Amino acid sequence: MHPNLWKIVDLRQRSCTCTSWVDLQFPCQHALVVINKLGLDIRLYYPPGLYESKSYCTIYLNEVLASPAVDLGEDDTQAPPIPATKPGPKETKRIPSNGMN
Ligand SMILES: [Zn+2]
Repeated sequence: MHPNLWKIVDLRQRSCTCTSWVDLQFPCQHALVVINKLGLDIRLYYPPGLYESKSYCTIYLNEVLASPAVDLGEDDTQAPPIPATKPGPKETKRIPSNGMN
């Protein structure tokens, strides 16, 4: 296995060598596997109160204003790439059957 595929999770430091846990402030996929494998309570590794309804409600304490719709128009500067091969199954040269005809 390629060594870059291995990640080291430190539950005490709440970190992983992928750095997502530190960056995002909640366990990365690697940490979740370790926590699950060890049978630990996953809630202990999330920031306290982050996913509580009280935190959710504070998002909407202030007025929420919808932004007006903006017509972005067509963008002809970014055409899709031209495929190198035709879509669909590869055409193969078949050897005609001798026995069934
Ligand atoms: Zn990770």
